[in-house]
Amino acid sequence: MSPQHLHLLLDLLAQPTAPFREEHVIACVGRVLEQANIPFFADPVGNLVIGAASKADYLRRIREKSTEPLRVFIAHMDHPGFHGVEWLSPRRLKVLWLGGAPVKHLAGAAVWLADSHGWAGSGALRNVALVASKRTIHSAEVVLDTPLDKPANSLYGGFQFRAPVWRRGKKIYTKAADDLVGVFAIVATALALFGAAKRRASPIPFIGLLTRAEEVGFVGVVGHFELGWLDAKRRPIVCVSLEASRTLPGAIVGKGPVVRLGDRRTVFNPDALKVLADLAEHVLPGKHQRRVMDGGACEATAATAYGFPAIGISVPLGNYHNQGFEGGPDCAHAAGPAPEFVHLDDIAGELVLCRALMQPNLPWGDAWHKQRLALRKNLRSYRKLL
Ligand SMILES: [Zn+2]
Repeated sequence: MSPQHLHLLLDLLAQPTAPFREEHVIACVGRVLEQANIPFFADPVGNLVIGAASKADYLRRIREKSTEPLRVFIAHMDHPGFHGVEWLSPRRLKVLWLGGAPVKHLAGAAVWLADSHGWAGSGALRNVALVASKRTIHSAEVVLDTPLDKPANSLYGGFQFRAPVWRRGKKIYTKAADDLVGVFAIVATALALFGAAKRRASPIPFIGLLTRAEEVGFVGVVGHFELGWLDAKRRPIVCVSLEASRTLPGAIVGKGPVVRLGDRRTVFNPDALKVLADLAEHVLPGKHQRRVMDGGACEATAATAYGFPAIGISVPLGNYHNQGFEGGPDCAHAAGPAPEFVHLDDIAGELVLCRALMQPNLPWGDAWHKQRLALRKNLRSYRKLL
């Protein structure tokens, strides 16, 4: 990975974020795009749209008559965390949890706090209540290390470790790789495409959609689909969900990005998937993995529900949603709070796949053509036995 890419990745992973509190990620991405002169705007839901300067520009891209599908790369900017609700005393903040979380060894667990200005402080959890299914946290109290003179509802936070992000060899440990690694991949892909595009005449069939509040049911991306903008299309569209997904047998950290065949809810579009799978064989032979990543659901499911062909690429993720499944540094107890971790080679491979998906003239319209020829040849060779 180039020093510039690594710098951008670490910068993104160091931003505080929680569902509905993606402001610092948005600011960080905005700075990078502005500097590179890449068009972007915020949709009415607050998602960032990259590759178009405005709603009118976006609609123009959707309405271009072309056989080249518009690739809509989707990643979410939030990560499970909490919102402040009310002060119980000058140092005790009642908080409500949003999204997944470990459910063991929570008493005394360290948390960070932030507000719209940036990092605000730190504290420890106590009196944690789980949701009825016991699968995640419902609410808790945060005992602050130092009292804060700020409105309770201006504060948000998540689990804290030795640093927001640090490196050990090729592994990156962080409070939140899901899905800031996906955000990084989209921004890096945009930088590469639009950097090269200065010498190109035709518009690039690329839209990056950085969404909000995925962790509570794809709220940002569903809000975007509900705008109906994509329904105005006069060209094919393919949605590409980029996720950091719970590592599973066959989707091992460090063995390459995963051609995601599906998630916990559904399998993905078989035609577009065939294009992606063949590309992966070509550009990352022996250096990618493929499987249904059913450790969680992703925004490709939301796209599928709205009728858009969708595929996915995953970076295998250790300690998914800060649950100490794989353990390692700063994980004091198995299944307790733990930093997420990802592998630099997997992220580099994801960038290669994203770039490959942007090649012109891929067989989107008839992905199975070669396969059909092979099947027909086989039929011919056995015809005499029929
Ligand atoms: Zn995610």
